[in-house]
Amino acid sequence: MNKRDFSTLPSVDRVLNLPSVQPLIERFGRSSVVDAVRAVLDEKRQQKDFTAPDEPEWEATCRTRLEADQQLSLRPVFNLTGTVLHTNLGRAPLSDEAKRAVESVLTQPSNLEYDLRSGKRGDRDDHIEPLILRLTGAQAATVVNNNAAAVFLVLNTLAHKKEVIVSRGELIEIGGAFRIPDIMARAGCKLVEVGTTNRTHLKDYEQAIGAKTALLLKVHTSNYTIQGFTASVDEKSLCALARNRELPLMVDLGSGTLVDLKQWGLPAEPTPQQALANGAQIITFSGDKLLGGPQAGIIVGEKALVARIKRNALKRALRVDKITLAMLEATLKLYLNPEKLVERLPTLRLLTRPAAEIEALCARVKQWLEGVLDDAIIEIQPCKSQIGSGSLPIDLLPSFGLAIRAKRHSGKWLEELASSFRALPIPVIGRVENDALLFDLRCLEDEAAFIRQLNQLSS
Ligand SMILES: *Cc1c(COP(=O)(O)O)cnc(C)c1O
Repeated sequence: MNKRDFSTLPSVDRVLNLPSVQPLIERFGRSSVVDAVRAVLDEKRQQKDFTAPDEPEWEATCRTRLEADQQLSLRPVFNLTGTVLHTNLGRAPLSDEAKRAVESVLTQPSNLEYDLRSGKRGDRDDHIEPLILRLTGAQAATVVNNNAAAVFLVLNTLAHKKEVIVSRGELIEIGGAFRIPDIMARAGCKLVEVGTTNRTHLKDYEQAIGAKTALLLKVHTSNYTIQGFTASVDEKSLCALARNRELPLMVDLGSGTLVDLKQWGLPAEPTPQQALANGAQIITFSGDKLLGGPQAGIIVGEKALVARIKRNALKRALRVDKITLAMLEATLKLYLNPEKLVERLPTLRLLTRPAAEIEALCARVKQWLEGVLDDAIIEIQPCKSQIGSGSLPIDLLPSFGLAIRAKRHSGKWLEELASSFRALPIPVIGRVENDALLFDLRCLEDEAAFIRQLNQLSS
């Protein structure tokens, strides 16, 4: 190694004293700048590059590093995948009302567990329970971290060391390793499978009920369907059987919407109201699927059962924080004005967005994309969006998208294009299909922000 070359790199102190570096110290703090300078020097030594950068280059290299450190890892993206409730992209986008509710309790103390009337300790459920009861007609309700936690807590409370009867056709796995048999084992229950994958009859349940049975469980088979020679027992008949044997029926609805989706031409999804009307005693569903709220698991049902669930010590470990409660309360309040729901609840607004409106948006965005992608052919293409998050995958919503293809076929062009869209300040996520990068524009609402950053696309 050449000793003289080393000496051409300046000391950390010399760089820190450069006039152009002073504003960086002011902005990011001295220790961060020291770290950045050291990192640059280390890198140069490793690359055996001993030429000393000039002053503007020092400033620019350090600033790029320091700014990258400031960039938050969790940030917004454009979801142009065509799946509205995309679990990997954060599921339901929240309403402005929910956003305002969070802002108001975020930086100040709140009455989270404080009863303002009596001046005594309150219960955090008090902020949402009356609202949930009003909307569902249930006797009691509580909320935990997510629906997986809700299912776990109910099973652990009502069926610990006992048996739970489930149809073999409902032993589902939801993405992210939520499997009914695993949750059941962790909750300390013994799973009793009845029927077969495609057919389960009432007598299968009947024959399985014994002295150790704690409850019957019905799981909404959210993310798949069985077609052909099938049979399952409807909720009403199962409830009648459960009541007859003095056992509770639990229904895990998964997505569980509070409104009849058919009124907007969307595929029907079961509601907690229906499950209660059918006689189910305890029901669980997610807050951030069709409900359009924050990640949460909502448990509704009979007063005595919910009271036992609330007393379980694990409830404390699974409870939600004030931020979730603020968002959930604001989201539920939107349901008190059903006429304005589509307009205010982003999930429903996106699901019901007219195809013609999406097509018109495609035409506008196409022109902008053509302006920045010289080597691409861009076509407006009818496509199908999915609801996502466990709603029936076969129910597809007519939509429109932009298909981007290479003018001349070249190996990695498509992958590189997708990757440069993901590298934008607000990353754009589409899907690659039939040799094209497809952007389904159903979920593109901030058109201006999308267009504004297109000139930063690296080709
Ligand atoms: C999605 C889903 C769950 C898990 O809910 P999370 O809110 O993701 O925890 C449980 N059961 C069913 C049927 C589901 O669809």
